[in-house]
Amino acid sequence: MSQKNWPEVEAQLYMKTFRRIPLTITRGEGMRVWDDQGRMYLDFVGGWAVNVLGHCHPVLVEAIERQARTLIHTSNQFYTIPQLELAALLIQHSCLDRVFFCNSGVEAAEGAVKLARRYGKLQRNGAYEIITVGDSFHGRTLAMTAATAQEKYQQLYTPLPPGFVNVEWNRPQAIFDATGSHTCAVMLEPLQGEAGVRIPDPDYLPLVRQWCDRQGILLILDEVQTGIGRTGSLFAYEQAGVEPDILVLAKGLASGVPIGAFLAKERASVFQPGDHGSTFGGNPLACAAALAVVAYIIEHDIPGHVRQVGGRFLERLHGLIHELPVAREARGCGLLVALVLNKDIASDVTLECLHHGLLVNQVRPDTIRFMPPLIATDDDIDEAVTILRTVLASVQRRNT
Ligand SMILES: *Cc1c(COP(=O)(O)O)cnc(C)c1O
Repeated sequence: MSQKNWPEVEAQLYMKTFRRIPLTITRGEGMRVWDDQGRMYLDFVGGWAVNVLGHCHPVLVEAIERQARTLIHTSNQFYTIPQLELAALLIQHSCLDRVFFCNSGVEAAEGAVKLARRYGKLQRNGAYEIITVGDSFHGRTLAMTAATAQEKYQQLYTPLPPGFVNVEWNRPQAIFDATGSHTCAVMLEPLQGEAGVRIPDPDYLPLVRQWCDRQGILLILDEVQTGIGRTGSLFAYEQAGVEPDILVLAKGLASGVPIGAFLAKERASVFQPGDHGSTFGGNPLACAAALAVVAYIIEHDIPGHVRQVGGRFLERLHGLIHELPVAREARGCGLLVALVLNKDIASDVTLECLHHGLLVNQVRPDTIRFMPPLIATDDDIDEAVTILRTVLASVQRRNT
C-alpha cells in the first residue's frame, strides 16, 4: 500500500476541492509528522490550528482509548457524563453560562446565529439580521458563506440565504451605520485568522461591545481559530477586554477529534426544548477527548507558555525582516502568526519549506501563516526560523 501514488488516487476519486500540497502524511508525534517515504517534518500548520497538543499526545490518546472502551455514543435523549464535565470546565473558565456541543466550526457558528435569531424573535420584535465584516471567515455552509464576507466564497453559490450584511472591518462606524431595527447581532473574529492574521485596533472590539449594549443586540465572537490558548490566553476575548454574549469554538477544542461548541450568557440562552439539536454533537468520545485537552491546557498554563514562545517567534521573524527584504511584515498574537512577503511568492516559500522539512500554510498569495501546536518549544521555534531564513534567502536570490 505504501508504494501507491496517493496524489494520483486522490485525483481520480476525490472531489476537486482542495489545492493539496504534495505530501502524504502517515504518522505524527508531538511537533513532527512523517510522510509515506519515512521523511520527517516539523509541523507549523498544526492541522489548521487544530492540533493544540501536537500529534498523538499521550494524554489525548489515553482519554480516547479509555472512552472508546467505555461508551462511544448514545443519543442526546440521555444524559452523558463527559458532555456535562466538559460543559462545566468551559463554563468555569469562561464568562459564559451555557453551552451547546456540535461537530465543527461552521456548525457552531451557524448554531450561534440561530440562537441570535431566536433572541431577536423573542427580545427584539423579530429582528433577524446579523452584521459581519470584510474578509471574515465563518465556515462553508450556505448560511455561513453568506456570513463570510469574501467575494471568492460567495459568488459561486448565489443566491445566498438572506439575513446577513457584510460591512467594512475594523471601522466601528460601519457597524453603527448598518444597525437597524432588523439587526439582532454582530458576529466577529477577535482577530482574523483566515484573512492573514489581521489584528484590529485596540478600541475596535470595546467600541462594538458598547454599541451592542446600547442597541440591545448581541455580540457573537467566533473564536473557532483563536480559542483554546492559541493567542496566549484561553480565549482571545480576554485580551481584547470585552465579553461576548455568544462564543463560538471548535478547531483546537479536542486537539483533532471533531467537535464544535457555542456558549452563551444566560440572558441570551433562549433556546427551548426542540429548538435546536444534533445527533453526534456532544457525544461521549469527542467530549472525553476535549475534556482531556482543555484540562491539560489549563493545568499546565499552556496560554502562558504560548505567550513566551509566541513572543520569541515574532521577535525572530522581525529579525528575519531586518536581514531579508523579501520578508516585509510579521504580525500575530501568541502562536497565530503571519509573515507577509514583498511579492506573491507565498506558494514558492511554502513548497521550499516543505523540501527543507518544515510545514507552513500559505494563507494569502503573499502571506504565510503559522499555527504550530501550542506545545512548541524554544528549540522548535529556532529550528523553524533557521529553515525559514535559508528558504527566504534562496527565494530572494531567485527573485532578484
Ligand atoms: C476554521 C474556521 C471556521 C470553520 O470551521 P470548520 O470546522 O472548518 O467548519 C469558522 N470560523 C473560523 C474563525 C475558523 O477559523
